[in-house]
Amino acid sequence: MRSASIVITIDGPAASGKTSVSRSLALRHQWSWVSTGAFYRGLAYVATSEGVSLDDEEALAKLCVSNVWQVKMGHDQTEVWLRDQDVTNEIYREENGSVASRISQYPKVRANLLAAQRKCAESVRGLVAEGRDCGTVVFPDAHVKFYITAGSASRAARRAKEQGKDVEETRAAQVIRDTQDSSRQTAPMQVPPNAHVIDTSDLSLDAVVEFLDQILRKELEI
Ligand code: C5P
Repeated sequence: MRSASIVITIDGPAASGKTSVSRSLALRHQWSWVSTGAFYRGLAYVATSEGVSLDDEEALAKLCVSNVWQVKMGHDQTEVWLRDQDVTNEIYREENGSVASRISQYPKVRANLLAAQRKCAESVRGLVAEGRDCGTVVFPDAHVKFYITAGSASRAARRAKEQGKDVEETRAAQVIRDTQDSSRQTAPMQVPPNAHVIDTSDLSLDAVVEFLDQILRKELEI
C-alpha cells in the first residue's frame, strides 16, 4: 500500500549528484528530504567510535536500534547525532563512506535500519529519499522513481573537489564502493523497475533538477 504522502526516490552510485539533486527537488516543492546513506554512514561512525567490531553482524544489528544515536532529517543535511553530539561532518568523510559500504552488506543491519528510513515518510506532505535501494526496497511503491548516474571520471572529480582529495585516490575508493554496493546479496544497488534513468555527466545541477522536476510534475499531474 502507498503511504499517504508523496514519495519520490532517487538512487544511484557514489557522487552521482543524488544528494544535491534530491535536496533541490525537495526544496522546490517544500517536501521533506532524506539521504538514506546517513543511516549507514551513521552506523559506521558510531560502531567505530563505540569500538564495535565491523565483522560482528549481530552487534552491529543491535547498534542499529540503540538510542545512543539518532538520524534527523534537515534541510541541508541528513544529520547524525551520537550521545547528544552532532557528528554529521564526521560521517560524510570518504573513509567513513567506505566503512558504511562494508557494513551495509549485512542483511540484519539492513533489516534493522529499514523501519527508521520508512518512518521518514510518515507525517510529512512529501518526501524525496535518495540512496541505493530507495526505489527497490525502502519505498517500492514510490510515486516517481529516478536512477541517476554519471561517468566515473566526473563522479571522482566532483567528490575530490568537494573534499580536497586526490582524484585518482577518490576514483579508486568509489570503484570499490560501487562494486560492493552493486554486487551484495541483499538490496544491491540497481535500477528500480519503472525508474527514469538519467546520466548527469554533462549536465549542470540546475539542468538536472529542472529535467527531473518536469518528469515528476507530469507523472504526478501537478
Ligand atoms: O549515499 P552515500 O554515499 O552516503 O552512502 C554511503 C554508503 O551507504 C553506500 O556506499 C552504501 O554502501 C550504503 N547505502 C546503502 N543503501 C542506501 C544508502 C546507502 O547500502 N539506501
